[in-house]
Amino acid sequence: MLEELRKIVGEANVLTAPEDTAGYLVDWSNRFHGKPLAVVRPASTEEVSAVLKLANRTGTPVVPQSGNTSLVGGGTPADDGRAILLSLTRMNKVEKIDCINDTMTVQAGLVLEKAQQAAHDAGRLFPLSFAAEGTACIGGCIATNAGGTAVLRYGNTRELVLGLEVVLSDGRVLNLMRGLRKDNTGYDLKQLFIASEGTLGVITRAVVKLFTLPAVRHTALVGVADPHKACELLAAVKTAAGPALTGFELMQAKCIERVGQEIDAVKLPGDIHSAPWWCLVELSYSLDPGENPLERILEKLFEDGTVIDAFLSNSVKDSRAFWAIRESIPSADAHVGGNLHNDVSIEISDIADFVDEALAALNARYDWIDPSVFGHLGDGNLHFNIGSIPPNLAFENEEGIRETVYSVVSRHNGSISAEHGIGQLKRAHFLQLKDPLELEVMGRIKKALDPKGILNPGKLLADDWDCGL
Ligand SMILES: Cc1cc2nc3c(=O)[nH]c(=O)nc-3n(C[C@H](O)[C@H](O)[C@H](O)COP(=O)(O)OP(=O)(O)OC[C@H]3O[C@@H](n4cnc5c(N)ncnc54)[C@H](O)[C@@H]3O)c2cc1C
Repeated sequence: MLEELRKIVGEANVLTAPEDTAGYLVDWSNRFHGKPLAVVRPASTEEVSAVLKLANRTGTPVVPQSGNTSLVGGGTPADDGRAILLSLTRMNKVEKIDCINDTMTVQAGLVLEKAQQAAHDAGRLFPLSFAAEGTACIGGCIATNAGGTAVLRYGNTRELVLGLEVVLSDGRVLNLMRGLRKDNTGYDLKQLFIASEGTLGVITRAVVKLFTLPAVRHTALVGVADPHKACELLAAVKTAAGPALTGFELMQAKCIERVGQEIDAVKLPGDIHSAPWWCLVELSYSLDPGENPLERILEKLFEDGTVIDAFLSNSVKDSRAFWAIRESIPSADAHVGGNLHNDVSIEISDIADFVDEALAALNARYDWIDPSVFGHLGDGNLHFNIGSIPPNLAFENEEGIRETVYSVVSRHNGSISAEHGIGQLKRAHFLQLKDPLELEVMGRIKKALDPKGILNPGKLLADDWDCGL
């Protein structure tokens, strides 16, 4: 097997020595550890196809991996030494930028930040953006339908993908590389692979949408009393600014305080104790609106008590500093340790009630919880992370905490995974909470596309997904 793999990708790209494979075998949160047969690093679609033909013939599991920033153990193999860990990171080219069609053709292993830079260099915006963008790759973003901080204006990855090339489990190449904005010729097959977490095919190339670069950004950190007031602020800014609203993030003041304490490179704009919750609001314009519209909008909201305090950006540097605070929260929490991550979505009109009810339910059950709540309020998506004082109690009570949070999510008809996917971490809860018919349809799709079950086993679907199908 190893000999055949070496013939396909070259000796140097079949890694088996522990010092060479170590970085591929642990997930970002250091929770999941695996042991593959080898890490295999193809450089082209043809090589991916040949590896999958071999895997299909021999019934060998294949775990696709791009930047390995999954927070749910999605790209980590089992520890039985059987799987090929297929790393796409050598397929990292920008193949074409078309500024008339506003599209960019990229390979799956291109790092997201490099894709953003390439678009910027061509005078365009590729708007997908989140804290792991310096490591996460396009293939991983597509396989997880990544979200991030600009979904409110530009949509999730799903909305940004026009065309896709996918290598199927039998090694055949499905070429859906069309840069069309309209195409009603049958099922939109690319949608099946977006968010499929490597279980239906290996994404090798994509055509993604580009946008006009914003000329002006106005950013503010706005203090409010609670998430209900944050939702009122969101509605008011939407009404006043319309499509200019690009980002709307919510943070507990204590998350910001922790960033100030733990992350030396990030400076806070001033005293943030005047309000218990803060919203990061960004408007962006391709044509300069002149005065800062946020000043006018916030003035009225101060008067009616919706807003308690605010810091407004005066420069691009200020805007970046505000975003650095938001994006440093996961690192600051990681420094402190012991935070159990939840990544939930709720209809925006219900999300403040969700926060009240979930915190009340947790407090009633545990008197030591120390929540770290922040996230993309404009998308109805919160990182509802639970730490403890003293640390580690949250992990010791993981099942009870998740059960408590997820039962409130279910009551509001929400989702237990807004962005990060299911992977290994959330599989048991996903299988327990998802509608049985939805699971059956997913199983049927899996069976059609991967009849031998070689693609990313142990992730997303149940091991016995083909039972009775
Ligand atoms: C600090 C931090 C902040 C984050 N913030 C966000 C956020 O705001 N929004 C968000 O959505 N996510 C966020 N994430 C999660 C993560 O970065 C995203 O899920 C990202 O899209 C994963 O990309 P990756 O290249 O690292 O994929 P990997 O971790 O390598 O893989 C993720 C999944 O995709 C599959 N996969 C990877 N490449 C391919 C391919 N070419 N073909 C088929 N399947 C493939 C893998 O098997 C795995 O199941 C964050 C992570 C960190 C560490």
